[in-house]
Amino acid sequence: MKFLCDQMLGTLAKWMRIYGFDTFYANRETDDKELIDICSKENRILITRDKTLIHRARRENVETIEIKTTDINDQIRKVISDREIDSRKVLSRCILCNTSVDEIKKDKVEGKIPKKVYDNNEKFWYCKKCNKIYWKGSHFENMIDKINEIKKSIAAS
Ligand SMILES: [Zn+2]
Repeated sequence: MKFLCDQMLGTLAKWMRIYGFDTFYANRETDDKELIDICSKENRILITRDKTLIHRARRENVETIEIKTTDINDQIRKVISDREIDSRKVLSRCILCNTSVDEIKKDKVEGKIPKKVYDNNEKFWYCKKCNKIYWKGSHFENMIDKINEIKKSIAAS
């Protein structure tokens, strides 16, 4: 399942990537027609707060999710309400560019990350496009907590 977030939903796009969903994030130069074309061609679900864009997309048979809130937790809840989050896929994708990250040997990251992080972690991942190195630090635990919280609140509603 693939997604596209419009220009207004950058934070949501970041979270979708953290959770391992393939998410295209539109930049400011991308116009509505291009957004719809990308969704059609790449079979992406359009996520937007723009009603006009929703109507246009539906006319082109593009699946849409309309976001009505500015609250990020509510936005995440809305998008993933009936989709399974696979915790094994969390952090499988670069947050900056959406590329799948590759595992990298520990000795290869020495000196490229803070020493404390190096000492406290055994597994690292690497985005070959942005040269960014990822690890499952304390922020990772927070993400898992957030997923569980959201799942719980969905189950309860
Ligand atoms: Zn990247």
